[in-house]
Amino acid sequence: NTAILWFRRDLRLDDNPALHGCLSDCDHLLPLYIHEPEEEAPWVPGAASRWWLHGSLAQLAHDLRSRGSQLLVTRGDSLDTLTRIASATGARTLHWNRLYDPATRERDTRVKQALRAAGIKVVSHPGSVLFEPWEIASGSGEPYRVFSAFWRRCGTRLGECTTLDAPVSLPPAPPLVSGLALDELMLRPRIPWDSGLQATWTPGEAAAHARARTFLHTHAADYRQQRDRPDRTGTSALSPALHFGELSPRRLLRMVTEIWEDPSAEPIEPFVRELGWREFAHHLLYHYPHTTDAPLDPRFAALPWRETDAERLLEAWQRGATGIPLVDAGMRELWELGWMHNRTRMVVASFLTKNLRLPWQLGARWFWDTLVDADLAANTLGWQWSAGCGADAAPYFRIFNPVLQGERFDPRGDYVRRWCPELGRLPVKFIHRPWMAPPAVLDHAGLRLGREYPAPIVDLQDSRAAALAAYETIKGRA
Ligand code: FAD
Repeated sequence: NTAILWFRRDLRLDDNPALHGCLSDCDHLLPLYIHEPEEEAPWVPGAASRWWLHGSLAQLAHDLRSRGSQLLVTRGDSLDTLTRIASATGARTLHWNRLYDPATRERDTRVKQALRAAGIKVVSHPGSVLFEPWEIASGSGEPYRVFSAFWRRCGTRLGECTTLDAPVSLPPAPPLVSGLALDELMLRPRIPWDSGLQATWTPGEAAAHARARTFLHTHAADYRQQRDRPDRTGTSALSPALHFGELSPRRLLRMVTEIWEDPSAEPIEPFVRELGWREFAHHLLYHYPHTTDAPLDPRFAALPWRETDAERLLEAWQRGATGIPLVDAGMRELWELGWMHNRTRMVVASFLTKNLRLPWQLGARWFWDTLVDADLAANTLGWQWSAGCGADAAPYFRIFNPVLQGERFDPRGDYVRRWCPELGRLPVKFIHRPWMAPPAVLDHAGLRLGREYPAPIVDLQDSRAAALAAYETIKGRA
């Protein structure tokens, strides 16, 4: 029997339930990747995600070869492709790990029904989250909308999260199938804008494991103190590896418990809790799929967004040219690395949705195209949380002040100096508020606002007041 293993966002051999499902079922294994991004519309993976995908697939193909197998890469409608390949190879079995975003769920249901009707055994497995989104429910059986209650419920079950080791060798692929070279998918940019990504990241399972080990042994014990500091290496930067499934969250949890017995105790609890936010994001997306575009709190559909000058302000935000140093540093980090620190993600999102009063969906789209870890569940949660309209969101009136955030979390201005070098010679006192520096200080730093660096595109106090006034118009609604 030939079994097809359909890889999607589970680009690993370790702890891969679908792979193990195949192995118990076959003497020939056909590992398959189908490239059909339009099936994920309207959230077709962006340019930075495609860059990562190329590297991750290359590594997966290498790892499969080293175990005696071979990755088949193809393009085209998933159902047509699977039907064609099953018929060419005589495969009677298909396994995959489940995904939870609306478009892939709909596609997978269609594929499953059609292939089963054609007599093929189709089995889906849990592989992307610690718990299936429908397994965690409140006492009344409803989905959770408050993180702390959700995570308490998960906490009682963390011990159930078992893992599967990567097989040492794999059954051979069936003869008579040939696919595309990875380069034919054209995932890498034609105009080479990716030097920052190349210098920063190594996609693939081996690098994900190495990164996890380094983080857990070197930084994790100080995570609580360091995690909010964009000027330090305090977080794991595992988000792209988790998104593409190069590392399973269960394996990561297991790595944690090999060092610290109790994942819910200090010092590791705050890190494990972030994996909880990842779970919560998938839980929400599964139960409230409309929230990728519409606010979970329906009152916010009527929030009056800015009507004038939106395009210019959006572009200044995207380019890191708002004149607010912490915001600009974050946006430039995003452009250069395809990643941004969580603290700055919250600050730039608050600035866009509150100080600029531009719809959060515009920010979500920009992140979608520029992040290597762009993830529909986490991005939707992050933007709705920041805009104040999601589950368990920060109250709308708690508007981040990017100057105070900078002074607290980038106290020497190192992060701003790295990404906005034109501010490099400003003294610490003014690094997060250059517009307050006296002319002599600006002169000494070789800085003219509006020339080397922009003057603020909005006044922080006035724009805060305008945001609160906009909120007043919807506050009382049911
Ligand atoms: P760590 O602090 O090391 O955390 C470990 C892991 O936990 C992360 O890799 C991630 O998988 C998960 N995690 C951490 N924080 C969150 C969170 N708030 N929500 C969900 N999962 C979390 N994360 C994405 O993976 N993809 C996105 O597209 C994304 N968009 C965001 C948009 C906004 C506006 C905001 C405020 C946050 C967004 N996040 C997103 C969440 C968070 O910023 C990143 O997961 C985190 O910065 C990744 O860095 P890390 O791997 O070093 O995190």
